[in-house]
Amino acid sequence: MSDRMYFDHAATTPVHPRVVEAMTPYLTQVFGNPSSVHGFGRDARKALEQARDQIAAFMDADPQSLIFTGSGTEADNLAIIGGAMAQRERGRHIITSQVEHHAVLHACEHLEHAGFEVTYLPVDETGSVRLSDLKEAVRPDTVLVSIMYGNNEVGTIEPIEEIGTYLREKGIVFHTDAVQAFGVLPIRVRELPVDMLSVSAHKINGPKGVGALYLARNVPIDPIVHGGQQERKRRAGTENLAGIVGFAEATKITAEEMEGRVAKYRQMKSAMESVWKEAGIAYHVNGHPKHVLPHIFNVSFIGVQTETMLMNLDLVNIAAASGSACTSGSLELSHVLKAMKLEDSITHSAIRFSFGITNTVEEAEQAARSVVKIVQRLAR
Ligand SMILES: *Cc1c(COP(=O)(O)O)cnc(C)c1O
Repeated sequence: MSDRMYFDHAATTPVHPRVVEAMTPYLTQVFGNPSSVHGFGRDARKALEQARDQIAAFMDADPQSLIFTGSGTEADNLAIIGGAMAQRERGRHIITSQVEHHAVLHACEHLEHAGFEVTYLPVDETGSVRLSDLKEAVRPDTVLVSIMYGNNEVGTIEPIEEIGTYLREKGIVFHTDAVQAFGVLPIRVRELPVDMLSVSAHKINGPKGVGALYLARNVPIDPIVHGGQQERKRRAGTENLAGIVGFAEATKITAEEMEGRVAKYRQMKSAMESVWKEAGIAYHVNGHPKHVLPHIFNVSFIGVQTETMLMNLDLVNIAAASGSACTSGSLELSHVLKAMKLEDSITHSAIRFSFGITNTVEEAEQAARSVVKIVQRLAR
């Protein structure tokens, strides 16, 4: 039991010990409310703004453009619902894709109930949105487009620079969910044609329950959480200071280690593939062959159903997933794989391995060998 292997970092990651250490004083000594004017409050305010500076530096953003939220999900909701509501007199058409995280899809569905029209763009067999489809979908009343940076299930990196450049010309607000890309791709918002970008702490070894939305200057947004004047009146509620400090520390560690991590994840993928090739088992890698997040590896083992493989892996203490944590546990087919229109034999046998800082190449090879054993046993 001690040798459990965790390959589900796209669902969540363990908190880094340095993050725990950084957070602790803000749960004990520095407990003040950042909005209070006394010394306790001022200390808290100072820590809050320092954390904001650190996270902003990591994505090359103006610190004032960051809005802290209670999750990546809330950042997506704020961008989409807040962005759409602020522009509702200009137009009520939104464009997104069929492969977004549910935080985006369900926020869009909510807006449909509120009188907006939403176009859900299809993707090709690699999970990529086509710019030509976007161009065709844009209408005079389109006020917001949301296309994710990197997909959480298959890892495909979307052409957000091309999409953003086109939308800039059109003057349409562009949001991207960068929750999975953040921490494995260098993100410099100053150089990106995006107006809003969502991130989350717990996907990069920070604590759960903290997210942020980058909001470029002069981009209209209505708050979705109402109350106090926190976050420049864009997100009410007393700030989760310890969590935000932990988020900042996580970005600091990630900045130091990103290159090495990415190299390791690439090695892990190729080591696993070598094992499968050598064993001669039938597999298919899902997602874009090149434009793919390094830590996400979605593979189908033809002939072995997803649930069967996951159960058998769990029996040997290997944690993998079928896609998003929200859909696993149910036998419902992944909306991402469905949108990619792959053969049924591929769609029904897809497994997601997602890597993190504690994984090793040796572990990956061992897991790959376990897969081989399962495939061979079930084939008999
Ligand atoms: C995890 C995830 C989210 C949601 O973030 P939470 O902080 O868990 O709410 C949104 N989008 C993507 C792509 C994710 O992977």
